[in-house]
Amino acid sequence: MSLKKFSQNSSNRSTNASTSRNGSRNISSHSESNGYTRRIPSQEDFGGEYHRTSRRSRRRAFDDIPEDSEDFFLDSDNYDTENVKDDYESGAYADHSYRTKDSYDSEHFDADISVYPDEEKSFDERLAEGREAIRSRNRQSVRKRKQMRFSAILITIDILVLLVLGVLFFTGKLNLAGLFGKKEAVETTVAVEETTEAQESEIESESAMAEADLSQLLAVSDRQAAMYDYDAAVETLTSSSYAADPQVQAKIQEYQTTAASCVAFDNSQVTHVFFHILCVDTDRAFTNDAAGKDFNQVMTTIPEFEAILQQMYDRGYVLVGLHDMAEIEIQPDGTEKMVRKKIMLPEGKKAFVMSEDDVCYYEYMEGKGFADKMVLDENGKLKLQYTDAAGNVSVGDYDIVPILDNFIEQHPDFSYRGAKAIIAFTGYNGVLGYRTDETYDESSPNRDPKMKANPNIAEDRETCKVLMQALVDDGYELASHSWGHLNFTNRDLSTLTKDTDRWERNVETLMPGNCDIILYPFGADIADWHPYSTDNEKFNMLQNAGFRYFCNVDSSKVWVQFGDNFVRQGRRNLDGYRMWMDFSGQDNKLSDLMDVKTVFDQRRPTPITWN
Ligand SMILES: [Zn+2]
Repeated sequence: MSLKKFSQNSSNRSTNASTSRNGSRNISSHSESNGYTRRIPSQEDFGGEYHRTSRRSRRRAFDDIPEDSEDFFLDSDNYDTENVKDDYESGAYADHSYRTKDSYDSEHFDADISVYPDEEKSFDERLAEGREAIRSRNRQSVRKRKQMRFSAILITIDILVLLVLGVLFFTGKLNLAGLFGKKEAVETTVAVEETTEAQESEIESESAMAEADLSQLLAVSDRQAAMYDYDAAVETLTSSSYAADPQVQAKIQEYQTTAASCVAFDNSQVTHVFFHILCVDTDRAFTNDAAGKDFNQVMTTIPEFEAILQQMYDRGYVLVGLHDMAEIEIQPDGTEKMVRKKIMLPEGKKAFVMSEDDVCYYEYMEGKGFADKMVLDENGKLKLQYTDAAGNVSVGDYDIVPILDNFIEQHPDFSYRGAKAIIAFTGYNGVLGYRTDETYDESSPNRDPKMKANPNIAEDRETCKVLMQALVDDGYELASHSWGHLNFTNRDLSTLTKDTDRWERNVETLMPGNCDIILYPFGADIADWHPYSTDNEKFNMLQNAGFRYFCNVDSSKVWVQFGDNFVRQGRRNLDGYRMWMDFSGQDNKLSDLMDVKTVFDQRRPTPITWN
């Protein structure tokens, strides 16, 4: 078993570049359409008449396939916490508990990694096909709207023709009675009267529709403003046909006034909380054995997560993405620079980042009271499939994504411009509950006979691509958690390089763009608190692989470091162990976020100790 990580890449309004492992550089601009865009509720939701103004885009870079296929073998993880602790100054890295935790969050490794160029290529082709299908769907819906508008025009013309005929009839210029006899003329009169009534009601319903359109338009702009995207809200209104409406003018004024009152949040003070996948059934998860005790320590239950959301919301916390804090910009001389961005929030609001590790629904967790896999429901919403203790299978809100989506739907001011959480994946068991890794693939040279072959692997990979795209569209950032959930402090460069290649080959290829975030397994960083430098070979390797955002685990309230070409951030585990420490009065690390007395799930066996 293991938990892994991965990363993502995004561009801002300025030119953006990423460097792949082999040194080739891809540069894209904001205007480029690349299918990797956080989908903030926009004018398009209103009807497609307006263009979106707030977007972020991502690109994928195609990394080279490793030429070597030599075996790599990782021995057991003997990690000396004390030696590492000595390297850190007080404050930062105050808590290293995650670094020594390997019973749940253990490493996974494999021999015989070889190249897989054909599969890689067909993935990319299929990705292109998938994107084309989405574009085609968009085009179809635009066409449909145009057709509907055309039909409305035809109906209006019909009514006008009948009206003219009616006028001619009444003025005696058209003697229908002479043509068809008296009876028919009477019928025609009735018909004309009906037509006139129909036309009147048509006019009434048109004005009702216009009102409905306006209120829908204002609902869209209000939502954008609630998410602190005042520019987008103003743009929605000014680009509409209602721009001159006094009510709309007043709204624009209101948004501009609110925007002017916002202040830049100090982005060196952005805290970061993280979770594993949520526990649905505490009876099956928190059993009285080693696995159950591990789950009790490192997992969070659904009621706990919901309570944390509500309490953080009540305290003024607002979700932001790592890419809202800083982004790479290309300098005139062609070099990259990580540039801090302004997070503009009303006074008193507090920005924070959230992440979820190991969103793979590992094989060893099957039947233990966790979700089975991510799916899209009939409305295109991201949900989880779950099998209860009796074997009943259902689709619902069994993990962070749909719960967070619902919460933000009801509380849009909990999300900064549509930001959600970071979702991090290892590779060795596939992703999102689908066994997509090459080790399950009978046609792969890296097939592992210990893993149960997945005959539907091609289909599952396509499904995962769709889900990954849906996550990004929904505002989530994607991250690497390494392929084999490796300890980056302990492992040597060669091992980490092969693992990173393997993660890119098996996981990043399922993503709609480059991954530039890495969440270190066990929180085990590649350096101490000093800023990364090019003296660090592991940093150079990860940098060349496209990573720019690096997160360890640290229970300090805030730990952020901005480098010339990277951002580092400490993450706080909000799990059973951490909450029990506060709940039982042994520690006080969570009081800025929640009242743990009302959050801690009393169904948990206690005490919860770290073993
Ligand atoms: Zn992990």
